[in-house]
Amino acid sequence: MKVFKFGGASVKDAPAIENLLHILRRYPEEQLVVVISAMGKTTNFLEKVLAAYHTEPEKVSALVDELQQQHEQVAIQLVPDPGPILDKLRALFAKLRAKLTLDPSSNYDFDYDQIVSFGELLSTTLISGYLNLAGISNTWLDARRMIRTDATYREGKLDWDISTKQIQEMVANALSGNSGQVVVTQGFIAGTAENLTTTLGREGSDYSAAIMAYALNAECVTIWKDVPGLLNADPKRFPDAVKLDKIPYEEAVELSYYGASIIHPKTLKPLQNKHIPLYVKSFFHPENEGSVITDCPLNIDVPSFIVKDHQTLLTIFPRDFSFIAVDNLSEIFNILSQNRIRINVMQNPALSFSVCTDAESARLTRCMVVLQYKYKVKYNEDVQLITIRHYTEGDIDKVIGTRNVLVRQMSRTTVQVVVTD
Ligand code: ASP
Ligand code: MG
Repeated sequence: MKVFKFGGASVKDAPAIENLLHILRRYPEEQLVVVISAMGKTTNFLEKVLAAYHTEPEKVSALVDELQQQHEQVAIQLVPDPGPILDKLRALFAKLRAKLTLDPSSNYDFDYDQIVSFGELLSTTLISGYLNLAGISNTWLDARRMIRTDATYREGKLDWDISTKQIQEMVANALSGNSGQVVVTQGFIAGTAENLTTTLGREGSDYSAAIMAYALNAECVTIWKDVPGLLNADPKRFPDAVKLDKIPYEEAVELSYYGASIIHPKTLKPLQNKHIPLYVKSFFHPENEGSVITDCPLNIDVPSFIVKDHQTLLTIFPRDFSFIAVDNLSEIFNILSQNRIRINVMQNPALSFSVCTDAESARLTRCMVVLQYKYKVKYNEDVQLITIRHYTEGDIDKVIGTRNVLVRQMSRTTVQVVVTD
């Protein structure tokens, strides 16, 4: 059995979904579990719907209409007789609208998951219906009944035992009937013991694919992308980016930890534990090799560049001019952790402590209010964090250019700089 994952870009419109069909046709003999994200920018769009629901409810209806039209349009383009698929999409939109007429919850993150999860429900309903008509018989499975998390909305923590059991049961059931060798399910979304919807964090569909592969002891996972494989840099910023053909899990974890947007960071550990290789292949050229992350020695002869924009650099000073010591640090870390502020880089000279983060501004403001009881906090907004793995001095100079360096941190393998223009 193989697990395939198609991200938003690879199902963004009718031609992309036709391309997905052609890719699946290349694997006629295989049992496939196909994990699919929301189409194109649907998740961002649903975030807008959610924001309107909380602050400008009069705008909600028009936004949902727009989303419905987009989805219906794709169904109409894909199949000559879209009636049955349209009925299913309309039923989902009716459910979404029903939710949006209730009073918003005081827990924004809860509402987020109940509403934003519709992106994946819609895309998989549409694509599963289309594939069935196009000759790829498949069963649509509800990931919320397979992947079990706790109630940490927007960042559900996995219950591996229950998820494994549910995935095995539901997939086995689906594949034992007459409805083919293919299962279609949603990335990103999961459910609690109370049957409430949760999500696994933005870009979480890769993680969903890994969870499915782990539970099913799959032979491999393939992520189909609009790039030729794993690259050493974002080709939009570094035109001479090259493909990394084969890298060990640990290196891929390092790269995604530093923010390479290749793979969701939680994806690799479950795969590594079961020695399941992860292929990254071109959606446009499925015949090409792509890249593989697997058990192999590190054999890297090019540096990797990871650039993260829109970072905030917080610098925290004790108000009494004491040195930053273990007890301050433990208190600061506690406050950061309570506010779920992810630290991308940190530095600790004698009288201050700096962290670079991409936390959203509402969360950051809440955190700063707490910190300010005891600390003076300065911040630089919209700074850039550049990480280079396997660097040489020349690489650093080239990347920094004439920009102003606020923080620089180096180990033998990695250099990180926080810069402003
Ligand atoms: N649709 C979700 C997102 O855009 C999950 C994913 O695409 O991986 O974040
Ligand atoms: Mg995506």
